Amino acid sequence: MDAADTQLADALRLARRARTIEVFTGAGMSAESGLVTFRDKDTGLWSKVDPAAFASIESWAKDPEPMWAWYLWRSKLAGQADPNAGHRAIGDWGELDGVERVGVTTQNIDNLHERGGAQDVVHLHGSLFDYRCSICSRPWEGEVEVPDEPVERMTPPACSLCDNLVRPGVVWFGESLPQREWALAEQRMREADLVVIVGTSGIVQPAASLPLIAAERGTPLLEISPEETELSRLADVSWRTTAAAGLPELVMGVKVDGLA
Ligand SMILES: [Zn+2]
Repeated sequence: MDAADTQLADALRLARRARTIEVFTGAGMSAESGLVTFRDKDTGLWSKVDPAAFASIESWAKDPEPMWAWYLWRSKLAGQADPNAGHRAIGDWGELDGVERVGVTTQNIDNLHERGGAQDVVHLHGSLFDYRCSICSRPWEGEVEVPDEPVERMTPPACSLCDNLVRPGVVWFGESLPQREWALAEQRMREADLVVIVGTSGIVQPAASLPLIAAERGTPLLEISPEETELSRLADVSWRTTAAAGLPELVMGVKVDGLA
């Protein structure tokens, strides 16, 4: 067997023993969904934008309209992208006989996991499809009009409770992660009998510390990533493949061979 076959066999051995699985995902999970970024030529309007400058409450306070337009545009692009075979495999995994739960804890804000059939998704960094008041945090339930073409500025709606501006429901630099989601993610890491780490560099804190909770309990960690990452040294098995290639192969293997 070559290295790839050995990694698959090792990954499959872990997966067949697992009943309660938590899949921890980052940007690499969505990479194969053809999600364009602000750097691509068809979003040229934003080519001069520094994403870091559009991800802080200070920038929002100074000039919210370009940020509102940018986040709406990103939500449109995310809505046009399709879940890839990796997203769908996670959904399928949860349907297999004998598997109790396949949860997802994600740093992604694109909602592709839900659209790929995942049942239980914890959003550590919020969602491009949620909005809330920038002052009182009341969720915005109204319509949000997304233009067909990117525009430079748009006026956010006003909160129905306090009349302050509605903002994107994502976590910006320097902001705390949502408490409820964080607590749920910690609980999932404690309850899982296998944690699968997919497409995350393991650099963005505090999210990257979550797999440590499982590792400290002796829960096996399986990493699926084309490159070595900060989390590789924690992983019992590191499989050097992508989300869209590896996850379907893994889940098909569990399906064919059954649970151990
Ligand atoms: Zn408000």
